Amino acid sequence: MEIYLDANATTPVLPQARAAALSAMAEQFGNPSSTHASGLKARALLDRVRATARRVLGAPSGQLLFTSGATEGIQTAVLSALSTLRRRRDGGEPLRLELLYGATEHKAVPEALKHWNALLGLQLPIRAIPVDAHGRHDLAWLRDRAPTAGLVCTMAANNETGVISDLEGIAAALAGSPALWLVDSVQALGKLTLKLTESRIDYAPFSGHKLYAPKGIGLLYVRDGAPFTPLLAGGGQESALRAGTENMAGIAALGAVLDALEDGEIFHDQTTLAVHRLRLATALSEAFSGLVFNAPAALSLPTTLNFTVPGVSSKLLLDLFDAAGLRVSGGSACSASKAQPSYVLEAMGLPAWQSAAAVRLSFGAADGTGLIDEACSRIRACGAALRANCLSPMPRAQEAAPELLTRFVVDGACCYLVADATSRQCVVIDPLPELTDGIVQWLRCRGLALAAVLDTHSHGDHASSAGELRAAACALLKEQSTTDALGWPQGDDEIVLGGLRLTRLAIPGHTADSTAYLLHEAHTLRLAFVGDTVMPGALGRSDFPQSEPLAYASSLKTLERIVGPHTLLLPGHDYDNRFACTLSAECEMQPLLAGVLQGRLDAAAFAKAKAALEDHLPLTEYQTLACGARVDGCTQGTRVEMGAAQLTALMRGTPRPMLVDVREPYEQQVAADSTPVCDTAPEYVSSSGLLNALPRWLALSADVPIVFYCRSGNRSAQAARALRRLGHAQAWSLEGGLALWPAAPSPAEPSLDKFETTIQQ
Ligand code: PLP
Repeated sequence: MEIYLDANATTPVLPQARAAALSAMAEQFGNPSSTHASGLKARALLDRVRATARRVLGAPSGQLLFTSGATEGIQTAVLSALSTLRRRRDGGEPLRLELLYGATEHKAVPEALKHWNALLGLQLPIRAIPVDAHGRHDLAWLRDRAPTAGLVCTMAANNETGVISDLEGIAAALAGSPALWLVDSVQALGKLTLKLTESRIDYAPFSGHKLYAPKGIGLLYVRDGAPFTPLLAGGGQESALRAGTENMAGIAALGAVLDALEDGEIFHDQTTLAVHRLRLATALSEAFSGLVFNAPAALSLPTTLNFTVPGVSSKLLLDLFDAAGLRVSGGSACSASKAQPSYVLEAMGLPAWQSAAAVRLSFGAADGTGLIDEACSRIRACGAALRANCLSPMPRAQEAAPELLTRFVVDGACCYLVADATSRQCVVIDPLPELTDGIVQWLRCRGLALAAVLDTHSHGDHASSAGELRAAACALLKEQSTTDALGWPQGDDEIVLGGLRLTRLAIPGHTADSTAYLLHEAHTLRLAFVGDTVMPGALGRSDFPQSEPLAYASSLKTLERIVGPHTLLLPGHDYDNRFACTLSAECEMQPLLAGVLQGRLDAAAFAKAKAALEDHLPLTEYQTLACGARVDGCTQGTRVEMGAAQLTALMRGTPRPMLVDVREPYEQQVAADSTPVCDTAPEYVSSSGLLNALPRWLALSADVPIVFYCRSGNRSAQAARALRRLGHAQAWSLEGGLALWPAAPSPAEPSLDKFETTIQQ
């Protein structure tokens, strides 16, 4: 069951709108420009919808054009305003005007301003109107600039925060200004009362898909007398203001939505919506400790909540909510590698942690009480899952057994936690400052004592946060003798954690103090933490002042002698999510490493070749210092995806494939009743605990397929690639993840009853 709470991005299509679109395609399919009966029917439909739109938008006069959506409306408005400015300039008028837009506008607005300003050769200054901490425009700033403004663009309500602009205040600030005024009204439709003709607004674009009409249909209001230049010229449609045969299916669907707005049956009033929002806000605050709302409710659309949970990334919350069947969105744009802080929240002056981890929840004006109830109960379940997994403060310790290894990654840098379940002791290796609070909470909640905090070397790209972690976790810190600079207890040969032992091995090169920590269980070497000395696809750079380039080759040989070619090596950086490496796998990919270990390169030749590689190393994709020159191309590599049909076929063959769900435990917990993949019980191994299972999978027979899956197919593809790289060729990822796995029941025919909820089976 899916609960869609991302209405500011788009909405489902109202059943009445779907029916109207189907009818426009099947029965009233005529071209409204034709003069025969079929055309006349289509024309009548078009005229009727426009007349309804005029009533709903309070626009008895002015032009109301059908467009493909708001982006087109914005382009048309900006082109119109800037074309008239250009005509004035071409007529000899000296133009000392500026183009102003709200700092929190949708990107379509500033991008259109830049585009047309350059294309028309105007080159007028473009400035962002600052907003205050509530996201409201700085009216004093605007008043000062108003006399020299050529075009002012201010949205009616913000798509990320729901903050409603003070349009009357803006109109007052613009009194006497020569500026044309564009109001992006996309998020206002159906949620705010609009009286366009009574206002000073010159242009107001709308988009159908934000209010239960399909994508590809929109409206643009143009005030009588406002300059106009068509964006599309051609067959003279829309009174030659917007050429192209009209999207009649879209117009019919939009008409059905506008009818529903007028009759007031389907869309809830402001008071009901505000009650829905309050219930969701209460559920969120109760579920997530310390949650902050990023915009004041009193100034926002009653359908939008934007919030941040301290210490919990938006990526984690999105995965969690998605697993629970709640569709929300990140309040910030996510690049492939890193969540970028939201420019909207940044413009409001929110601190980076708050704007980078923001989540937006926006429900539809037609959503009913049943859906809100269910959403609230799932939100509470999400909060409980975070607490149960020690990701949110817990009042008392959990007795859940910790996994042997947990890996945390921040911008490609890795931190490891080694825990012994029986003695409840652990060691943290290469702590990162961003993780301090989370790790302390994690240890406290699981009742773990901290035996040591170790660094594999003095890092070149960041300062160690070991001291900070020890101070923050002092109550959990085992009584310790003095330690060396890397945190190793002075005078001790090993650190014992119940049945586990850590020993150390000096491997100078990347830095003079580079050290590997070897983890032994009973008398077996399980794996080694090697810092930056060997990373997947790279060797640590040795051009730092603290490096010892000539010692590097011999350290690699020592490492090989002690750990052998197949022991898992856990690196200090893992920019491409390869998780682990082995000397044998790296030798195949890294000629320099192979050269040293196979005796073809001596220490000096190795150092020289390495220095050449490291000359002018660019920053990483995270804009951090690269800790080594990658030589395996960091490509996404071979295709590891397998489609549903291929997997179903594979399940019938031998050997039977293993299915591995790599979602985190908190996702699995809230997704108890999600669609099973192939009716086969999967193994649950989360991405952060994947290292625990790697040795077991690598020991499987080479022909056993292992198919990983997750929510979207990203994390499972990483797991499959990592396993293949380490030598298991039959590692696969379910293409598109659970999101695309075929749901069991086929969707019911759209009901034309009151559109009570968007819960979909
Ligand atoms: N303006 C705002 C405030 C929006 O939220 C959006 C859509 O996200 C747009 C403009 C662009 O609308 P469309 O998708 O119809 O081009």
